[in-house]
Amino acid sequence: MSEIKKSATALAEEEILKLWAKEKTFEKSLANRKGKPYFSFYDGPPFANGLPHFGHSLVTGIKDSMLRYKTMRGYYVPRRNGWDCHGLPVEYDVEKQFGVSGKKQILELGLEKFNGACRDSIFRYKADWEAFLERFGRWSDYDNYYATVDTNYTESVWWILAEIYKKGLLYKSFKSLPYCPRCATPLSNFELNEGYRDNVPDPSVFVTFPLKDDPKTKLLAWTTTPWTLPANAALGIDAKADYAYVKLKEDGSTLILAKARLDVLDLRKSQYQLLKTVKGKDLIGLRYQPLYDINKQQFSKEQLDNAWQVLAEDSVSLEDGTGILHSAPRYGEADLNMGLEHNLPLIESVNSSGHLVWGPKEALGQFFKSADQHIIADLTKQGRIFAAETAQHTYPFCWRCETPLMYFATDTWFIEVTKVKDQMIKTAQEINWTPANIKKGRFGMWLEGARDWAVSRNRYWGAPMPIWVNTEDEKDFMVVGSIAELEKLAGHPVGDDLHRPFIDKVVIKKGAKTYKRVEEVLDCWFESGSMPVAQWHYPFENKAIFDQTFPADFITEAIDQTRLWFYVQHVISTILFNRPAYRQVIVSGFMMAADGQKLSKRLRNYPPVQEVFNDEGADALRLYLLSRPQGTQTADYMRFDRSAMTDIRRNVLDTLNNSFKFFETYAGVDGWQATKIELPDPDNLLDKWLLARLEQTTSLATASADNYKIAHGILPVFELVNDLSNWYIRRSRRRFWKSQNDQDKDQAYATLHYSLVKISQLLAPWAPFISDQLWRELTKSTKAEESVHLSDWPSVNKLDNASLKLLEDMKTVRELVINEGLSQRAAKGIKVRQPLASAKVSLEVENKAGFDQIIAEELNVKEISWVKSIKTVQVDTKITPELKSEGIMRELVRNIQNARKNAGLNVDDRIKLALKSDSKVIQAAIKRFRDTIFAETLTTSELSGEAGYSETVRIEAQEVKISLSKV
Ligand SMILES: [Zn+2]
Repeated sequence: MSEIKKSATALAEEEILKLWAKEKTFEKSLANRKGKPYFSFYDGPPFANGLPHFGHSLVTGIKDSMLRYKTMRGYYVPRRNGWDCHGLPVEYDVEKQFGVSGKKQILELGLEKFNGACRDSIFRYKADWEAFLERFGRWSDYDNYYATVDTNYTESVWWILAEIYKKGLLYKSFKSLPYCPRCATPLSNFELNEGYRDNVPDPSVFVTFPLKDDPKTKLLAWTTTPWTLPANAALGIDAKADYAYVKLKEDGSTLILAKARLDVLDLRKSQYQLLKTVKGKDLIGLRYQPLYDINKQQFSKEQLDNAWQVLAEDSVSLEDGTGILHSAPRYGEADLNMGLEHNLPLIESVNSSGHLVWGPKEALGQFFKSADQHIIADLTKQGRIFAAETAQHTYPFCWRCETPLMYFATDTWFIEVTKVKDQMIKTAQEINWTPANIKKGRFGMWLEGARDWAVSRNRYWGAPMPIWVNTEDEKDFMVVGSIAELEKLAGHPVGDDLHRPFIDKVVIKKGAKTYKRVEEVLDCWFESGSMPVAQWHYPFENKAIFDQTFPADFITEAIDQTRLWFYVQHVISTILFNRPAYRQVIVSGFMMAADGQKLSKRLRNYPPVQEVFNDEGADALRLYLLSRPQGTQTADYMRFDRSAMTDIRRNVLDTLNNSFKFFETYAGVDGWQATKIELPDPDNLLDKWLLARLEQTTSLATASADNYKIAHGILPVFELVNDLSNWYIRRSRRRFWKSQNDQDKDQAYATLHYSLVKISQLLAPWAPFISDQLWRELTKSTKAEESVHLSDWPSVNKLDNASLKLLEDMKTVRELVINEGLSQRAAKGIKVRQPLASAKVSLEVENKAGFDQIIAEELNVKEISWVKSIKTVQVDTKITPELKSEGIMRELVRNIQNARKNAGLNVDDRIKLALKSDSKVIQAAIKRFRDTIFAETLTTSELSGEAGYSETVRIEAQEVKISLSKV
């Protein structure tokens, strides 16, 4: 076994995980909030029969972070995760496992065996999932999960369906639905939505229908589903549109088609003459010759009389085709409506497993997609094809097994969502969305177009529909709402396992009547949408918890769930309680691979998440994902950009760590220790400024996080970390270096310490590892909580006017004076380390004396004079021999400091030093500034004799040999 290489960051994170487990930090974070306001969160259940992949990281990060944040804000936030266990994905895997496919083979195998295997498979990857979630830092009560497979869960689902039935919103109907012939089940419109593919090649066929009384005149219809042609029962036209009679030169026949679609005749380069134009309504009632025979025994006389005529139809398009719709009532929504309205024969050309059962001999028994070519060939022979070509279409496929779907009319149970649409739109007003436009847009529009929900599935592994039907009269049925009710009706216990085939054996006798269960199971989305209720086995128990947790204060999933899990919850809770199921949603963006493609296991176009954990670490991944507005605030596509993650690790996490190391090192040298965490009251301008920046950042970050805008809760902290390191510490370094301990130094320590503590809190929800590591180090000599995750979020205080002015002044000084001054130096090619005599500054700031020193140091000038005559700053760039000499001294000091580091010395080690150069100018500088050089490099005396370490450097193009020894 090869050893997994882990970075120091990864190892440190794993140490923190161990500490959390040992100290029971999560449990404590709950216990110490008990009695505080309850913050309710619903976990959207993932399927546990597939491995977690990288795409799950974003939404997992949002869940964990937001809940940590709310905990720090003082809420009581219990968390349990859930598992989605039923449905086609599980069945599909088990079919593959047994090497079977389709209804017949499953029934031959036996449902007990089949469903037993489904049950065995559902938690196959649970341990891997939990390992992923835990390593990512997701806190949850993993033992106390809910699972849609549990009997209690199913009983609540039954109760919900029975309630819906009691409200008169459950019905059975023969409807044309998106249907997977391989899975042999209808799908809901939102499942359909999941499986569209672009640019699918499909036949595009123009078929002629000669009029019965005048065979030389033909109606021209168009279809992309030739397999439905043997089921043709009528043609539809737009009654208000213009239709043309055109005479073809090639054979003297006459075609009828919409005037707006005449250019389809170019397909055959046909030359034609326009004979006349009529209104669509004038065509109604025309009779035509059918394509194929019909099995007359199957249909009533009236149906046979109604068949094969032209009818008015609203859904006829004038955008494509010929303006004449071929109608096969069993295979399309509009077709079926036409068929039922005009009592047409519902001819079956393709059966429920997708095979051709009516039509030309060569095509019989073929899968519907393969039957197309045979039907086209046969009709060509009959002279009924005007043109046949291949067109690119958007076509739906089964979201689970990728079989092309068809529309198929079957008996299906529906929830009458259209009847509660207005109510759903009303209850949706109470929901807040991030991003806000989802409310009226993606979600609101979906509600506006709500359809009745097909909830029955002709499948096996799912919650069985609790409907028992009179074997003599299918209109007489009962919907059972609990196990107790069923046992009472059946007169015996029904056992613990409610799955098929056991439940199918439960028969209800009522006098002479016998009731048997319908065969269908429930759509697994009905189950996940029942989660707010069913996770608690409500209303059979846990009434108080349900009341406390419903509706959820917060949920989050990726944008595709807007029309799936978010939607189904909303439907169910509106029907049951006339309330939304949740108050606040963060709709996360969609993770794509770096190349812009979908994340694909096969293409390996993303790093394994474990590799990222072991290298950059979970904090870097979380901060990267969460700080992108397109991932957490605008629900956009987001490409995984590993270099951006590396940048965050370097620019934020490493910078913060180095700032801490700086503090730790010097505080260690000086023996400085914090005994409490208290806002310091320093005198130094830089200290005051840092504390004001901290206050400003806290206020910005808090407001954003409170508004569920995570990226903007994090980005200000990134800026603060940068300011802390690249401005505050850089400008304050000398205050920590100086050898005497005084009040100024003490205040600098207190300010830096306090700021680091608060920064660890501001980062805690988003980067829970490094923040806790820092917190523990920084607070170990205080009485603070043992983990940052047990602490309270920093309080937000309004900045006083003096602080506001200071922030503004510092910004101006940095952006105008210093940037400009430095570029004046750069323009003359003068290094920053070369001291200059003076600079003039023109600016209105509150505290000139304080800024004086900052500007002088930063521009490396000896003197600042405040004037009014210039723009902002004017640096005197003249270098006198004295200044030149001092510049050389600065170079020497810097090189000696480097040499100390290279020699492996500690910052407080004292040394002996020798400097040798042939250059007169450098010798002069050494002689002149000997005391300064010694003081700044902690040199106690001249080194004579053997050096412990030496190196040669170049200063002003001259060699200097530095030799030193530790004292
Ligand atoms: Zn399928």
